[in-house]
Amino acid sequence: MTKGANHVAAAVKDLKPSKIREMSLLAAGRNDVISLGIGEPDFPTPKEVCLSALKDAIQGATHYAPSQGDPQLIEALRGYLQRRYGMEIPREGILITSGGMGALTAVFRTILNPGEEVLVPEPHFPEYLAHVTLAGGKLVQVPTRWEEGYMVDPKQIMDRVSSKTKAILLNSPNNPTGCVLTGEILDRIADIAKAGDLLVVSDEVYDRILYDGRVHESIVTRPGMPPRTIVIGSFSKSFAMTGWRLGYAFGPPELMEQVTKVVTYYTSCASSVSQRAGLAALCLQEDPVESMVREFEKRRDLVYDALAQVPGVRVVRPGGAFYIFPNIEAITGDTEHFARALLEEEGVVVIPGQPFGPSGEVCIRIAYTVDMDTLREAMNRMVRFIRRMS
Ligand code: PLP
Repeated sequence: MTKGANHVAAAVKDLKPSKIREMSLLAAGRNDVISLGIGEPDFPTPKEVCLSALKDAIQGATHYAPSQGDPQLIEALRGYLQRRYGMEIPREGILITSGGMGALTAVFRTILNPGEEVLVPEPHFPEYLAHVTLAGGKLVQVPTRWEEGYMVDPKQIMDRVSSKTKAILLNSPNNPTGCVLTGEILDRIADIAKAGDLLVVSDEVYDRILYDGRVHESIVTRPGMPPRTIVIGSFSKSFAMTGWRLGYAFGPPELMEQVTKVVTYYTSCASSVSQRAGLAALCLQEDPVESMVREFEKRRDLVYDALAQVPGVRVVRPGGAFYIFPNIEAITGDTEHFARALLEEEGVVVIPGQPFGPSGEVCIRIAYTVDMDTLREAMNRMVRFIRRMS
């Protein structure tokens, strides 16, 4: 190890480099590769949004914004959230951040004292581990089972509540499984939070990407939950705006005021010009999300149908997000090797399941974020590769 590395804090040294980035790097430089690795819509940001942000930048939206966010964006978001959640959210309860990631960072920094625990169903978004541990907390994973569609059993959450538990972290629709928590499960988790006086951080960045006629349900709408819930949202997935780095959080105003303090000292504010783009996205005449979701749904069907007919692959039909998480333990005990060999032999990038938690070790994550023809080709290659292995 070089001398410089000796100076790195233990909490950072212990973090593993992102597997998603690592697989993408392995694929770089090859031109025959189809990447089903990174979780971002392949659709462009609507042109009107780009033009509007450009116009605003030329007219001066290039200075610092208030830490809480551009007042016009907050007002527009308030209306949008009221329509989506059917509840009044005070403007002091809304915070604009640098992506959903910026919201997660600031929220865990705000709520965690050293050693406090956050319960999270796994498989989960790997980044949660960094968000919680870098804030001095401890992530306590709650296992789920593919046989139950990765739906968390609230009793499993309850069994892990201790005197150190500070919050429950939920993510529905889920990355990597596509699981959408049912209303009944949300009710039961809300009861656990209230009984234990716990906060809930509800990561809803995929709230618009739902299939089979599902309607988004949030734990924040349950009785007694607004004072103890922070919802994390993002423009990244719904409006195909990953690179703009624009997200938000909303919750009880007195708590959000403290989260805003953290944003002030960390990043000052989210990018001003991106906030203008967000405002334009919320003001679009035609909702771009619906057509994007219809396209994702067709892809979901294609991937699910292709995998479901392969012997040894066990797969749950995702209800939302744009991932599928097949269990391939009957084919291999080493999904890392599987992913590398699939890339080497067939030029397809998938992510081995280990970073998503112990229940995911025997799975691979596939992001269906390429067009139908490319996806069909990728699935042909993958099925051919699995058949060769078996
Ligand atoms: N939460 C989940 C579950 C995600 O999958 C992602 C991105 O992949 C994020 C949060 C962060 O998204 P962003 O920072 O682009 O808003």
